Amino acid sequence: MSKYDPKSLKAAEFINDAEILATLAYAEENKNNLPLIEEILARAKPVRQGKETHCRGLTHREAAVLLACDDPAVNEKIYAAAAEIKAAFYGNRIVLFAPLYLSNYCVNGCAYCPYHRQNKEMPRKKLTQEEIRAEVMALQDMGHKRLAIEAGEDPVNNPIEYILESIKTIYAVHHQQGNIRRVNVNIAATTVENYRLLKEAGIGTYILFQETYNKERYEKLHPTGPKHDYAYHTEAMDRAMEGGIDDVGLGVLFGLDSYKYEFTGLLMHAEHLEAVHGVGPHTISVPRVKRAADIDPATFDNSIPDEIFVKIAACIRLAVPYTGMIISTREAEAVRAQMLKVGISQISGGSRTSVGGYAEEIRPHDTEQFDVSDQRSLEEVISWLMKSGHIPSFCTACYREGRTGDRFMSLCKSGQILNCCHPNALITLAEYLTDYAGEATKQKGYALIENELKKIPQDKVRQKAGEYIATIKHSTERDFRF
Ligand code: SAM
Repeated sequence: MSKYDPKSLKAAEFINDAEILATLAYAEENKNNLPLIEEILARAKPVRQGKETHCRGLTHREAAVLLACDDPAVNEKIYAAAAEIKAAFYGNRIVLFAPLYLSNYCVNGCAYCPYHRQNKEMPRKKLTQEEIRAEVMALQDMGHKRLAIEAGEDPVNNPIEYILESIKTIYAVHHQQGNIRRVNVNIAATTVENYRLLKEAGIGTYILFQETYNKERYEKLHPTGPKHDYAYHTEAMDRAMEGGIDDVGLGVLFGLDSYKYEFTGLLMHAEHLEAVHGVGPHTISVPRVKRAADIDPATFDNSIPDEIFVKIAACIRLAVPYTGMIISTREAEAVRAQMLKVGISQISGGSRTSVGGYAEEIRPHDTEQFDVSDQRSLEEVISWLMKSGHIPSFCTACYREGRTGDRFMSLCKSGQILNCCHPNALITLAEYLTDYAGEATKQKGYALIENELKKIPQDKVRQKAGEYIATIKHSTERDFRF
């Protein structure tokens, strides 16, 4: 039997089944141990040290106890602590992005995904570079600056050369005032060499969802194709880091296995990255299985209700305080609102999950990966965010200024966020309002910017940010950043 070792590079040792089961038993035993729970909550809180704010995070065992506890009073404390941590490191900014589906050709047999090879009903489509240009123009015309590209795994139809060429095409499109400034990549596990090529192509985050951390379940749900190999998939982030990508994004597809098992595995994965590479996951995504072409989510008997889903997000925020947390348009408006309060820092807006969907007038469904619950336009999402006290941000500055990996994490800790991320959010929001928003959103947004500018502590930064925003409003100069 494999021994648990967070520093090991072997999947069976850093995501260790025996350790997960022992953690779940420990959590069950202690779920009503209020003194222990109070201690864990106190450990999770942010601490000021001079100018810096630090959060220690929680171990997977500590966090599992909080997740297991079903005392409503404790839950309220968990939500309050999560909100406090989020405010300390991410403020009220919410970063926006859109997925871009390049190809639904796929050789895998994933039981939850309609792109699986056996699905003969699904029309297969792969965008040409010309079609990608049309998609990107449509996305730029909405106001997007940050994309996550998605593709099935197919070495013949979607080889790495195709992905690299597509990234080049995306960065090269400048339609009117638009440009895409960060391309995140969500493609199947690959080799160190290919990760190196992705890094050279200038990608932001490499995202790969584990789907499920339970090896046995994983193998059943991925019966055929290269994705069947649990160890190769689970060790992908180590290869990505070896290839020079230091922003990696983890995620679990909730609904496939017990949420407590997945939660523990996810935190162990984050601990492993920290232990081996000195930097935790840049982001964590929390997708839930959705209805899709030949997929009925009811087939998977581990679906989770909204209140558990929100609690998972809050516990992740406590355990991995500096990580960005992402929620997609898989979720409807009401759940998204609750999730924002407890820790989500990035959301997608105006998404289409079909190949070539953005260039179409009417939302196409034939090549859709899953149903989109939040069907609002990007502008509606922006307006909604502002109404609920958030600053919609299109900022991509960190990675373009080389603040990736642990350099991003130190910015988070140093308390410089109000002098850096906050003005960058306001500047990019001003761009969005000036170039893409309707009159009502513009007025609301400019008023919010005026108010939020006052919160920048350093006089010089505040003044400069104000100047940049005035320039954006009155000229065609763009892309200012701190
Ligand atoms: N093909 C790549 C891979 O295998 O990792 C990544 C791209 S895939 C388009 C992105 C993600 O969509 C998958 O990792 C999976 O978690 C998610 N997904 C697949 N089917 C889904 C469904 N029915 N509902 C929600 N999410 C789904």
